[in-house]
Amino acid sequence: MTQTQLTDTPSPRSVLVTGGNRGIGLAIARAFAEAGDDVIITHRSGTPPEGLRGVICDVTDSDSVDRAFTEAEEMLGRPIEVLVANAGINKDTLLMRMSDEDFTSVLETNLTGAFRCARRASKGMMRLRHGRIILISSVVGLYGSPGQTNYAASKSALVGLARSITRELGGRGITANVVAPGFIETEMTAELPEERQKTYLAGIPAGRFATPGEVAGVVRFLAGPDAGYISGAVIPVDGGLGMGH
Ligand code: NDP
Repeated sequence: MTQTQLTDTPSPRSVLVTGGNRGIGLAIARAFAEAGDDVIITHRSGTPPEGLRGVICDVTDSDSVDRAFTEAEEMLGRPIEVLVANAGINKDTLLMRMSDEDFTSVLETNLTGAFRCARRASKGMMRLRHGRIILISSVVGLYGSPGQTNYAASKSALVGLARSITRELGGRGITANVVAPGFIETEMTAELPEERQKTYLAGIPAGRFATPGEVAGVVRFLAGPDAGYISGAVIPVDGGLGMGH
């Protein structure tokens, strides 16, 4: 058996994408599904997007996370091999005006939510002796951003989370990595006033925002056979905006 086979995850892989009902998470879920993997997305309400299977999950609630994984594993008939912890929120305001609730609720979703999902996913991955944990951070995590002390703190902490998981579970065939997108073409960036868009674009060496598909491609790579020896890494998808992190 070659080293590649030892670290590979067999296809189709069982994939869970939190917050996969829209935005970047949906692009990631579709990329896995198009590649033939068995994908479950989490959503908080309504029905899953067409063509995808979903489970209800609120990442701020440990019982909800546990139920979602159990349901997903029952639907797929096996443990989750690839976790994409994508669910995230922001509540931007200047430091002096930021309430405790503004701060802790963002940490609770972006950081503690990712921790809850990684903890639950690790049980099945330990049994399988392989797994891929991919945490969706942001360029802002290590770059900093005025008005986003809560968001940046939550996103940079994902690096410590991934690196500690790597040290703890690396010997069990489990990798944990962070993807740090820059500005992505989403509803949020489309709604920015033209002048603000120009200012942001001026700081991006690539001179453009990324598509959600460009983030999805990197996530898929990290979940694939060629990335079996990458762990504890922070992979920027930011057109060079955060160079030097
Ligand atoms: P969206 O706001 O479009 O989607 C966020 C997703 O997270 C939704 O599916 C939302 O569910 C889900 N979510 C929020 N809170 C919870 C919760 N408590 N439990 C479960 N799910 C929850 O965000 P984007 O697609 O733009 O961003 C996705 C990720 O990428 C986030 O982590 C974000 O921080 C990060 N990112 C985004 C960038 C961008 O330019 N857009 C840049 C860098 C990083 P619901 O539909 O129910 O609200």
